[in-house]
Amino acid sequence: MEMSGFTDDQLDVRATIEKICSRFDDDYWLAKDQASEYPHELHSALAKSGYIGIALPPSLGGSGLGILEATMMLQTISESGAGMAGAQCVHANVYATQPVAKFGTEEQVARFLPGLIEGTDRVCFGVTEPNIGLETLKLKTTARKVEGETGGYRVSGQKIWISSAQVANKMILLARTTPLEQVKKASEGLSLFFIDFDKTKPGLQLRRIKKMGGGAVDANEVFLDDYHIPADNLIGEEGQGFKIVLHGMNAERCLLAGEALGLGYAALKRASMYARERVVFGRPIGQNQGIQHPLASAYMHLEAAKLVTYHAARLYDQSAHDETVSTRAVGVACNSAKYLAAEAALTACERSVLSMGGMGYAAEYHVERYLRECFVPRIAPVSREMIMNFVGEKVLGLPRSY
Ligand SMILES: Cc1cc2nc3c(=O)[nH]c(=O)nc-3n(C[C@H](O)[C@H](O)[C@H](O)COP(=O)(O)OP(=O)(O)OC[C@H]3O[C@@H](n4cnc5c(N)ncnc54)[C@H](O)[C@@H]3O)c2cc1C
Repeated sequence: MEMSGFTDDQLDVRATIEKICSRFDDDYWLAKDQASEYPHELHSALAKSGYIGIALPPSLGGSGLGILEATMMLQTISESGAGMAGAQCVHANVYATQPVAKFGTEEQVARFLPGLIEGTDRVCFGVTEPNIGLETLKLKTTARKVEGETGGYRVSGQKIWISSAQVANKMILLARTTPLEQVKKASEGLSLFFIDFDKTKPGLQLRRIKKMGGGAVDANEVFLDDYHIPADNLIGEEGQGFKIVLHGMNAERCLLAGEALGLGYAALKRASMYARERVVFGRPIGQNQGIQHPLASAYMHLEAAKLVTYHAARLYDQSAHDETVSTRAVGVACNSAKYLAAEAALTACERSVLSMGGMGYAAEYHVERYLRECFVPRIAPVSREMIMNFVGEKVLGLPRSY
């Protein structure tokens, strides 16, 4: 990647994260992927060095940097060869804490965030549901207010694709507190909770999903049945959870974009190394324009997506103190960044596999793992189609298509 134009803070973050990640080489990630083993060691190393709280204020125990620097951190983790799996073992702890820091009370942030920053706690993010897909506003998981002694809420429903739920002891949960039929707008009546995710308690069960890539990090179905949540675990106002969670979702899109870029650059690095060394028909394969040009154009697409990604992250941070930066502008920038970076990563990973011939398909050359993982930022946290629906409607003023 071309490094000019980054701030000193970003460059410092990159240098330190590269150093931490150098302890976990490609063989570590290959073994974790194949054994479906969680990369606890990377999570601990990052927590120990204070990087989980990178985008949280020092008053809460964080580093006081922003999503701009956090995006660089996640890109560097992914680019080290850790890929999406390495990034996913920390990323929810970075983005999902944003709405808690912004909308939680002083008492709540003091109770919830230090454990995550120190790495003694882990959080997973519970939004997606099996029967509603991308129609988040129709989600069916319900938190019912409980009167009497226990108070709080009882939550019932099902979540799906919840990453790191096997290792997390906390969850940020979006659930409906007022039935859809009783609210004026579908975006109302949803509430955000920061909950203890205690698998020993009644009413909480998990089922691990077998998936295409990122074997090191678990994805799960989560079944909630009358699971109790104390009242003081509600973040912000009841019924305003959707607006609150959007704050974390825009940050998430920037981090995912960074992670996608990291995969793309890592793949190109491996492919160009191979193409310099592999000799066929008496010359390095990289001397053939049929190999060289696809890699060169993939690099340029990554560089373009990089500019969009860091622009979006900068806008996100700026919006915290600059009212001229609208939520809509941040949303458009963050969605565009995630879309473009994910597509550029796919191009880079696919061309890298193909330019390495048979060895591109061999696990020990690692690019097949990057290719499998680079589908994640294309699908999650929001699909390519929904981003195009959003830009079509909100930017181009076209009729809503969904
Ligand atoms: C590896 C992985 C990890 C994940 N981790 C988490 C997590 O930690 N927490 C969490 O909450 N979720 C997580 N997710 C879920 C992810 O955010 C969703 O899979 C994603 O939002 C897509 O939702 P869906 O799978 O229900 O797709 P669906 O809503 O079923 O959509 C299926 C397809 O139809 C398309 N489509 C649907 N409607 C339209 C329309 N009107 N116009 C055009 N196209 C349309 C979609 O774009 C998509 O391609 C994860 C997913 C994966 C794969």
